[in-house]
Amino acid sequence: MKPLLIGGAWVDAPAAAPNINPSDTRDIVDEYGQADAALAADAVAAAAAAFPGWAQASIQRRSEILDAAGSELVARAGELGRLLAREEGKTLPEGVAEATRAGQIFKFFAGEALRVYGDAQRSVRPGVEVAVTREPLGVTALITPWNFPLAIPAWKTAAALAYGNTVVLKPADLTPGCAWALADILQRAGAPPGVFNLVMGRGAVIGSALVEDSRVEAVSFTGSTATGARIGAACMARNARVQLEMGGKNPLVVLDDADVELAADCAVNGAFYSTGQRCTASSRLIVTEGIHDRFVAAVAARLERLVVGHALEDGVQIGPVVDGRQLDQDCEYVEIGRKEGARLLMGGERLQRSTPGHYLSPALFVDVDNRMRIAREEIFGPVAAVIRVRDFEEALAVANDTPFGLSAGICTQSLKFATAFREQAKVGMVMVNLPTAGVDPHVPFGGRKASSFGPREQGRHAAEFYTAVKTAYVFAG
Ligand code: NAD
Repeated sequence: MKPLLIGGAWVDAPAAAPNINPSDTRDIVDEYGQADAALAADAVAAAAAAFPGWAQASIQRRSEILDAAGSELVARAGELGRLLAREEGKTLPEGVAEATRAGQIFKFFAGEALRVYGDAQRSVRPGVEVAVTREPLGVTALITPWNFPLAIPAWKTAAALAYGNTVVLKPADLTPGCAWALADILQRAGAPPGVFNLVMGRGAVIGSALVEDSRVEAVSFTGSTATGARIGAACMARNARVQLEMGGKNPLVVLDDADVELAADCAVNGAFYSTGQRCTASSRLIVTEGIHDRFVAAVAARLERLVVGHALEDGVQIGPVVDGRQLDQDCEYVEIGRKEGARLLMGGERLQRSTPGHYLSPALFVDVDNRMRIAREEIFGPVAAVIRVRDFEEALAVANDTPFGLSAGICTQSLKFATAFREQAKVGMVMVNLPTAGVDPHVPFGGRKASSFGPREQGRHAAEFYTAVKTAYVFAG
């Protein structure tokens, strides 16, 4: 059984849970310890005890530890990518890319640890100096989802540590393997005891214990909108800082003047790669009349050729759905779409492969109305809905007619429409002639409306969440 990491020691948990490969459910990656609320409290205590030392540690030391962790992640990207593909079901190239990305994120924040800027100003009062500085917060609880099991723990952890906070990481129940590997790497990189702690187990048990612990100064959460709302309310009730990254129902608008091949590539990549299990997935394809049929035909031709199968097999482009429950949910939405009157052009069927896994053929709905549930609710699977519209104005209105606001894309050759869309899409991230998914690690990530709450993650904007601003007034006398 893989143990928890608390206060620099590997600690056995009272129970264990198997980590099952969704490409082959006979393959158990390993057994992972399941903490209880008392062990979660121990991890918080360890992080609280380690905080004063880490907050005072030389920024050079913090930077070197993050850099060493980044180097190991990059050097072992092949092996870690394989672990990721095995426990989550991303294809091997996607897994290796995510592991490499995780390493690059640590290296970015190794630099940021050395760049915590302040601001010296003159006061309006003669003889008084004003200094604005940033300080670490204290213990941070990081709660992460299964769909980016290495990159999301990396971008929260690296930022928290860079600015001098200590960490208790609670990874998703389905994918503890990558988080465990990250804990092991941080230990080897020289993180002092208690600076980084790992507790695995059920969200309802240990997630809640972390969120409600008064010693936890800040909670950074990525996951579903429903869980985020609960965590947000619990944090606000006790004045803890909270950052929520949640669901999406991201539109990709395709206008008559778009390059149809490029638009179809963007749609297929954005909607179906990573099995559609990305918060930034293009689940609504909003297409103007003049290009509609050509675009649908180009997407359908690509879907015919997509290879769905075991995540570790050569040539596979779409891995399995993460587990049986998610597969049931995806199939349920396919049924809902049919009943609502949308036309299932292709896919949406459970597939048999040579290994027992959770396989689904990519599903494309046409004749979708934006009021249908398949256009409003996050499905989080390889299911996309094509919505036909008259013109740019209607496309923009439909794109914005959603509770979510994470990412939005437009395919067009018109500078005028691209600019208008950039300005008027009510989202945190906007893409022109690119898929709605796929972002850089050194610039802000996040959304608006029901997709996000609190400051942005990643890049130097991460400092907004992981530091407290202090304004000092000094009169020399
Ligand atoms: P989830 O909400 O079920 O779980 C996320 C995490 O919260 C897990 O670690 C879980 O154990 C924990 N948790 C569950 N109940 C809890 C509770 N009561 N208290 C504290 N913690 C609790 O989400 P998921 O199924 O793992 O991930 C899929 C969701 O994540 C999708 O909605 C997707 O859009 C979203 N997501 C968002 C982003 C983003 O940045 N916006 C990125 C990736 C995924």
